Amino acid sequence: MKKGKKIYEGKAKIIYATSDKNLVIQYFKDDATAFNNQKKSIIEGKGVLNNRISEHILNNLSQIGIKNHLVKRLNMREQIIRLVEIIPIEFIVRNIATGSITKRLGIEDGTVLNQPLLEFCLKNDKLGDPIISEEHILAFNWATKKELKKVKKMILRINDFMIGMFRGVGIKLVDFKLEFGRIKLNDHNEVILADEISPDTCRLWDLITDKKLDKDRFRKDLGDLIPAYTEVAKRLGILHEQSNLSAVNITKLSSIKKRK
Ligand code: 5GP
Repeated sequence: MKKGKKIYEGKAKIIYATSDKNLVIQYFKDDATAFNNQKKSIIEGKGVLNNRISEHILNNLSQIGIKNHLVKRLNMREQIIRLVEIIPIEFIVRNIATGSITKRLGIEDGTVLNQPLLEFCLKNDKLGDPIISEEHILAFNWATKKELKKVKKMILRINDFMIGMFRGVGIKLVDFKLEFGRIKLNDHNEVILADEISPDTCRLWDLITDKKLDKDRFRKDLGDLIPAYTEVAKRLGILHEQSNLSAVNITKLSSIKKRK
């Protein structure tokens, strides 16, 4: 499949056209941003790890019937995905209160929620992704009632599955962000899971120590991010347990393999 021209560049990913109008290539960058782009850095190897971790999670979700945009991983930084019309909403799922909700509502950090809490944010960097209600979504036609019902059902299933998957490897799934998109199937629109699921989009705490294994290491200057993301990948069985390879070494290794 031929890589075509760049059609979109976001904070952490680039989308390229392909020779198939229904498929695009998603490239994972090493750029890290936080606080609505006010804090920026390049963290070598982050894109490689997120590509692998997201592939692993989306493939697992696919196996339990959650339709998503991933077709296949192409290489260390790229995936072929289905072109979707992104619903302009960030769906935030919280199992433990931390981050913005603690400041917004004065909830004590680390409060375990009795049931998953779903929040909606408008995907709009200029406005700082403001929190919105279901009524806003319907009033401004950002999604239909039917789409919301379907998305909410998928989200609960995704959360249940991911809590179990991470718990099995000694990690608490604290919260995460999901995005969904529309595709045309025959004559009707279908909503599928899109974007990525990785330590960039989830909060992941070690089950015993509460050590942060996610992007909060960058947001809060908690120390190196790559060893934490590598730890997540190793625990999920994506990288071998004995391996001391950093993502950077993996990148080098992959290019050596390709040359052979
Ligand atoms: P909070 O609202 O506490 O900042 O974030 C809640 C969860 O959603 C966290 O896991 C965070 O990583 C994720 N999240 C919220 N907004 C964004 C965003 O714009 N980009 C990314 N990568 N993750 C986000």
